[in-house]
Amino acid sequence: MSYTPSSRIAAVVRFSLLILAVFLIGCNTAAPTSESRLKLGTNITITIHDTVPRGIFPDIWTRFDEIEQKMSINESRWDDTELLQVNQAAGDHPVTVSDETLLVVQEGLRVGELTDGAFDVTVAPLVLLWMVTGSTPQVPDQERVAAARELIDYTRVQIEGNAIYLPEPGMGIDVGGVAKGYAAAEAARLLREAGVNHAILDLGGDVVALGTRPDGRPWRIGLQDPTRRRGALMGVVEVIDTAIVTSGVYERFFEQDGVRYHHIIDPFTGYPTRNELTSVTILSSDPTYGDALSTGTFVMGLETGFNLIEELEDVEGIFIDEQQRVFLTSGVRDSFRLLSDEFAVSCADDIAGGQCNSDS
Ligand code: FAD
Ligand code: MG
Repeated sequence: MSYTPSSRIAAVVRFSLLILAVFLIGCNTAAPTSESRLKLGTNITITIHDTVPRGIFPDIWTRFDEIEQKMSINESRWDDTELLQVNQAAGDHPVTVSDETLLVVQEGLRVGELTDGAFDVTVAPLVLLWMVTGSTPQVPDQERVAAARELIDYTRVQIEGNAIYLPEPGMGIDVGGVAKGYAAAEAARLLREAGVNHAILDLGGDVVALGTRPDGRPWRIGLQDPTRRRGALMGVVEVIDTAIVTSGVYERFFEQDGVRYHHIIDPFTGYPTRNELTSVTILSSDPTYGDALSTGTFVMGLETGFNLIEELEDVEGIFIDEQQRVFLTSGVRDSFRLLSDEFAVSCADDIAGGQCNSDS
């Protein structure tokens, strides 16, 4: 059988299409690809809107396991993490930890200073006393809350090289308010290093919008309505390459005698934070920083927390109060849009009870 030029071209085209089809199947470029896992005590979903690099999902899940194995203080799952060792050695001796555990603790201490102790990584005794996410949580005795509160003070953490020392028995570090952000940053790093330019990472409320949408436009990230079931949105924000981290009263709590007790503890009272806020969302380029700041400014309350975020470089905030008022720092006003008419965007002057003028 002899080939004519046109049949040869047809054969080349057929062969090329075959190679392309195999290549596309191998690289999975078509629809977005998602995987979900329960890790770090939360539901995590990663959606890649790009060519999926081979082995990227297992790499990310392994990274999260490594972080949990170093930083968890959940003794029902782990008996020997670095932070469990630090806490067990409190009042006795320093414990040397890995660079990344040190980095997360130091970021927590830095935000502790920025928030005047509203964010406090030494909150572990109170977290363990309240056990909000335990199987049978209940309000602890006042005396026990007062005793645990005495142990909370981030300024007493001593660090030398990679060694961490807590000077009093019973003290303890809990990075639950910051390490999920670090895990998100690590996953984003792995994705970028593997060449992914378009992806969404959702670590139970800590979201990273990586790059842009595949068409080059900004991502539109929905914000949880703090008064409704998970997935009900009150607004949307348009972002490029940004971490959007939320702390709220609605995710982890129990109710006793008609009162809701949630998991964000006020280190100054020893009780779950009770102020006018229902949710704080922080937008930043660094999810670790954003995670700690969202927890810390939630504890600080609307006026002080909002003013802090407004002052800080490179972070923006969306604060929601019990009256369903939404307060936006100056850098996020143009990119936020309300989806629910039960909420109203208020101007910053309203926080201090002032009169709003049109440009505030
Ligand atoms: P955030 O507002 O970001 O943080 C609230 C958390 O921060 C609290 O739960 C507490 O841990 C801590 N915190 C409370 N008050 C303060 C304060 N004033 N200052 C500083 N920190 C404060 N959950 C489980 O149920 N089971 C697990 O096995 C489990 N393992 C985990 C392992 C690791 C390494 C990490 C980081 C978290 C783990 N969690 C686990 C916790 C779970 O993921 C939490 O939901 C999460 O850390 C809290 O995040 P958030 O976004 O809901 O709230
Ligand atoms: Mg946080």
